[in-house]
Amino acid sequence: MVNYKDLGLVNTREMFAKAVDGGYAIPAFNFNNMEQLQAIIKACAETKSPVILQVSSGARKYANQTLLRYMAEGAVEYAKELGWEHPQICLHLDHGDTFELCKSCVDFGFSSVMIDGSSLPYEENIALTKKVVDYAHQYDVTVEAELGVLAGVEDDVVAEESHYTKPEEVIDFATRTGCDSLAISIGTSHGAYKFKPEQCTRDPQTGKLVPPPLAFDVLEEIEKKLPGFPIVLHGSSSVPQEYVDIINTHGGNLPDAVGIPEDQLRKAAKSAVCKINIDSDSRLAFTAAVRKVFAEKPGEFDPRKYCGPARDEMTKLYKHKIIEVLGSDGKAE
Ligand SMILES: [Zn+2]
Repeated sequence: MVNYKDLGLVNTREMFAKAVDGGYAIPAFNFNNMEQLQAIIKACAETKSPVILQVSSGARKYANQTLLRYMAEGAVEYAKELGWEHPQICLHLDHGDTFELCKSCVDFGFSSVMIDGSSLPYEENIALTKKVVDYAHQYDVTVEAELGVLAGVEDDVVAEESHYTKPEEVIDFATRTGCDSLAISIGTSHGAYKFKPEQCTRDPQTGKLVPPPLAFDVLEEIEKKLPGFPIVLHGSSSVPQEYVDIINTHGGNLPDAVGIPEDQLRKAAKSAVCKINIDSDSRLAFTAAVRKVFAEKPGEFDPRKYCGPARDEMTKLYKHKIIEVLGSDGKAE
């Protein structure tokens, strides 16, 4: 048994309480490799932003969950080395699907876990979530639950269409499970193709897709039912078109990739939404930078010469999200 507090990590309780009060959101960035983690920590240290480092099931398969956990422990030390005196870093399991997996993460030093029972019938979702909460809370590990279904593909999580969270269920669900935060479905979606072209309109000047707006009426209903309760948005990448264009003009092929416009996320961050998950945007930043080096310098074969620029591009992206979209800069001195 390793307690996250001994690793210098924090759970989400205090960061969420402050974020709800302050009208901003905490970034939840997924990581799979060293360059991504370095970029996240550098961006957060430079902006003094609290951060949630997320490990998904795909990341566990790709990089090994033991290695990722030790990397997170190293990240706390790296943050201090960068001059961030009191780093607020949470290590979070993204989309845990079984009690056993959540338990193993709690036992191994994670400070927060998500149990995603959203695909189960309502009562089974409650039972599974409560079981995880009862275990995790013994060690002061916070638990995120999910109600409603997001469309899209994220690692092993696949859903054809979204079902908005039903506001009439949230009080019962939060009370009976004791969860610390709730992921809801209001039209965000996993992946870099969040909407089908037929769901969007097209900008007549650029020919780019314009996605449908998020269901802010559903969010408002939920906020009224659970005042001050931390709400989470998954699938909230914006799919920056400048990255899509760089990829497409340097040998890539991402037709009609589309995300959630940043003004919508800015609006959400000011509400009870206090955790916003961003993964695809950093994949796009990484890929755009690597493709550019490969196209411009075909003789390059030192991974540091293309992973380095990719890391710089991700750092830039994370800082932009923190300062311009979530408003979490300066919240963790
Ligand atoms: Zn998700």
